[in-house]
Amino acid sequence: MDFIGQAPILERFRNEIINDKLGHAYAFTGEKGIGKRTLAHYIAKTILCIGKDNDIRPCGNCRSCRGIEEDINPYFKVIRSETRKILIKQIRELIEDISIRPAEGRKVYLIEEADLMTIDAQNCLLKTLEEPPTYGIILLTTSVFESLLLTIRSRIVQHRLKPYSVEDIRSISKINGIDITGKEYLISLSGGIPGRIFELAADKSFEENRIMIMKFVFEGDTHSKLELNQYLSKNRNVFSSCMDILESVYRDALLAQCSLTDGLINSDKKDNIIKYAKGLTPLDIFEKISGIQEIRSNLKRYMNYQLAVDMLTLTT
Ligand SMILES: [Zn+2]
Repeated sequence: MDFIGQAPILERFRNEIINDKLGHAYAFTGEKGIGKRTLAHYIAKTILCIGKDNDIRPCGNCRSCRGIEEDINPYFKVIRSETRKILIKQIRELIEDISIRPAEGRKVYLIEEADLMTIDAQNCLLKTLEEPPTYGIILLTTSVFESLLLTIRSRIVQHRLKPYSVEDIRSISKINGIDITGKEYLISLSGGIPGRIFELAADKSFEENRIMIMKFVFEGDTHSKLELNQYLSKNRNVFSSCMDILESVYRDALLAQCSLTDGLINSDKKDNIIKYAKGLTPLDIFEKISGIQEIRSNLKRYMNYQLAVDMLTLTT
C-alpha cells in the first residue's frame, strides 16, 4: 500500500527500519490539515508490519497492519486530548504500558496534538524520552512544535511535512471521493494542504461566495457592490472565505499583467481576469491587495464588522 507524497520522510524511515537505526521519538509537524496524523499512522504501520515481504511495508494485510486499522493492535496506542488538554494521568498510563515488554517486535505510541500536553505531562514524558526501552517508539504530531518544552524537543527528531504537489492533491482528492472536475481553482486555493481542499469542497457556501466576488470584481458597478455588501452584512460566516477569493483574483490580475496566465488560481476565469487587469496599473492592484490585508488585521483587532464590509465593498 502506497502513501501519496512526503517521500523524503518515508524514505528515511524505510532506511532506518532496514538498517535497524530507528530512534525512539519523532515529531511530525506542519500546518493544520496537512496530514500529520495520517502520516504518523502510516509510519506506525510501517514500523510494526510483520508481512513477509520486506520491500512492501506496510503490507496492509498482516495481523499487525489490520490491527492498526481496526484499532485493536495491542502494540500501537494513541494518546489524544479528552478535555482540550493532554493530562499527566494519560502520560502515566503510557509509561506504565511502555514498561511492559512486547512478546515480539516493537511498541509504538502516538501522541496527537502533543502541544496540548500540560507542563506536568511533558515533564512526565521527559523521563521516558531520557531512558526509553529499546523496543519503544513515541510519535508525536503538532502544528506548533516550538511550544513544547525545549528539553522535550531536544530528544525528538522532527519531520516537517511539506505541502503536496498539484498532482498529489488531485490523487488525494480522488481517493477521498472529492470530485474536482472543472474546479481546478480548489487545488490552487488549497495551497497543497489536503485538509483545506476537504474543507472547501464541503463548504456549501463556497461556490455562491465565488459567484458574488466574481461579479463584484468583473462588473464592478454600483449594483454588484451593493449586492455583495448586503450578502456579507447578512452572512458574517462567509466573510473570511470571500476575502480569500477576492485576494486570489487580485493576485491573478497581477500575474495576468506579467503575462503569466499559466499560474492563475482562477484559471476558469482567465479571459475576465486578463480584461480586468488591462484596466489597472500594478500599483492599483497592490493597493487593493494591501487594502484587504489591512481590513483583515483591523477586523482582528478592533474594527466593527459592518465597517469592514463597507470598506471592502464600497471603497476597494
Ligand atoms: Zn503488514
